[in-house]
Amino acid sequence: MLSIDSVSAEPMSIELDEPFGIATGSQARADNVLVRVRLSDSTLGLGEAAPFPAVSGETQELALRTLCEHADAFVGKSIANWRPLCREADERMSGCVSAACALSCALLDAWLKSLGCPMWLFFGGTTSVLRTDITIPTGTVRAATEATRRAVSLGFRKLKVKVGGSTLSEDVGRLSAIAQQAPEVGLLLDANGAFSAEEALELLTQLGRVREQVLLFEQPTRSDDLAGSRRVMTEGRVAVAADESARTCTDVIAIAKQGAASAVNIKIMKSSLLEALDMITLSRRHGLKLMIGGMVESPLAMSVSACIAGGLGGFDWVDLDTPLFMRRALSLEDAPVSGGFQGDSSQLRLDVIEAGHGVHIPS
Ligand SMILES: [Mg+2]
Repeated sequence: MLSIDSVSAEPMSIELDEPFGIATGSQARADNVLVRVRLSDSTLGLGEAAPFPAVSGETQELALRTLCEHADAFVGKSIANWRPLCREADERMSGCVSAACALSCALLDAWLKSLGCPMWLFFGGTTSVLRTDITIPTGTVRAATEATRRAVSLGFRKLKVKVGGSTLSEDVGRLSAIAQQAPEVGLLLDANGAFSAEEALELLTQLGRVREQVLLFEQPTRSDDLAGSRRVMTEGRVAVAADESARTCTDVIAIAKQGAASAVNIKIMKSSLLEALDMITLSRRHGLKLMIGGMVESPLAMSVSACIAGGLGGFDWVDLDTPLFMRRALSLEDAPVSGGFQGDSSQLRLDVIEAGHGVHIPS
């Protein structure tokens, strides 16, 4: 019987090529945490915590402290029982979801690596190729125009534009410049809960012809303003994705009952692994479409999400782009991680993964 020999956590900070700005704050560096689960046959499972202070309030320090506090409780246990172990991680680390997520991913990765099974096949092997959008963070018109030009030249067909971080007219100006640079691409707006329903509707109105390029409005209103979200969807006649308002299965049920969104953005980092899987099933049951996303994650956590989306299939929206913001750091000789899904642009390939999520630490 394979058992867990050790569980450890260490800081993993990755410089971004450019700051990742959203309505509620900005990150210039991903201050994440690497978790290692070593099995009795020396198999190494890896997980990543990506606390995003501006979204969840969690920090690298909290994730590290939480993981170190509970690591020993898992030593000696059988890895074959990975699901109850993940449940135990969620219960023990309820104060820091990104930490519980990191350990859960490392446990599953260790188990699948010991079996030689790629994670996307474990989840069902539905599709080996995903197409992600890329984010245009908050910032100046000039930066947005430049980022759009790059994205289009790399073949991206969907751009996720962060809005709500400045005035309405500045958002309109940025979106108009982006649309002018890329008249063929679909636009996903993400306000990270920064608007009232009136403001979100006003933005859609002021967009004029650019409005025709808008495919989805993510989290237009505050996470507790489901009525506002519903208003944006019905009065604005736009598809709405719930992100910050959908952290748990209970949230998904409330969203479905109130008709507050047409899609749910699934993120293992906000819900942890098992809850995210349950939310996927529940969203489908309630006729809600699925999006897969993440915090500011390296290819480690993001490959887990890609394996879930590709393995289970049926995700209409794929937003797994933050490794693209770490290109410089990941190309260095001392890069903290390598492997996982393969993708320099919008296309993410999963069939290159040999076992687990496929990410390893370069030796
Ligand atoms: Mg979002």
